[in-house]
Amino acid sequence: MSSIAHNLKLLVVGAHPDDAEYRAGGLATLYRRLGHSVKFLSVTNGEAGHHREWGAPLVERRREEARRAAAPFGIETEVWDNPDGRLVPDLERREEMIRSIRVYHPDLVLTHRPNDYHPDHRATSLLVQDAAYLLTVPAICPDVPHLRRDPVIAYLSDDFLRPYPFEPTVLLDISSAWEEKISMLDSHESQFYEWLPANMGRFADVPESVEGRRAWLETRIRDLTRNLADRHRNAIRAQYGDEHGQAIELVEAFEGCEYGAPFDEEAIARLFPFSDRSC
Ligand SMILES: [Zn+2]
Repeated sequence: MSSIAHNLKLLVVGAHPDDAEYRAGGLATLYRRLGHSVKFLSVTNGEAGHHREWGAPLVERRREEARRAAAPFGIETEVWDNPDGRLVPDLERREEMIRSIRVYHPDLVLTHRPNDYHPDHRATSLLVQDAAYLLTVPAICPDVPHLRRDPVIAYLSDDFLRPYPFEPTVLLDISSAWEEKISMLDSHESQFYEWLPANMGRFADVPESVEGRRAWLETRIRDLTRNLADRHRNAIRAQYGDEHGQAIELVEAFEGCEYGAPFDEEAIARLFPFSDRSC
């Protein structure tokens, strides 16, 4: 554990409990390893994320899964009560977002891109984007002190092509954080072993034993992560050098959002202070 001059704060704002872990669990692990602070915020309560359970019992179950995913790594979690599958980016929720970001005062905020298959992801992205400038405006939500400077805001990766494909500003080698990331996903058993396979018609593929299903999950997530790396191979090589960049398979990727503080070289060096990340 190296000493740090400044404690960084990372806030990952997902629509559902598990979005933050899936797209930024590696970065969160690397932050915590350096002693930085991390919070996963789910804007909805996850109550629609199952084929056999829903309502209050599922909300409770998913809250507990989110806690179990994050607690071993010292990551703070918060799950809001907005109904899953029905999130609307209205004024009340925007002001909730403004207050929440001001109080946590993060250096880096990550969220979904605004074009995404899931309406809750789109709404969450809009809430963060709509909050961005207003974080610094004293007359808005004056009960919580405004921020002097915006945090850097960046998007989590996705596979959508329209209106334009995801364009990573930063690619991060998460090989050394892989086990931790899989542990986080493994804790969301209602999702990765039940709902998502059922929704994709692959429920029968999930092994019954605890060890078997974790290995199955690891293989699936590894394949998806390799695909992400392969799609952005040239950028990885540009960032890590040709030889090392060619060999990297496990990455997370983040694209700067224009509405936050500049995501420039200075910000990248400050917010991604990992010794194995060479530019
Ligand atoms: Zn989601």
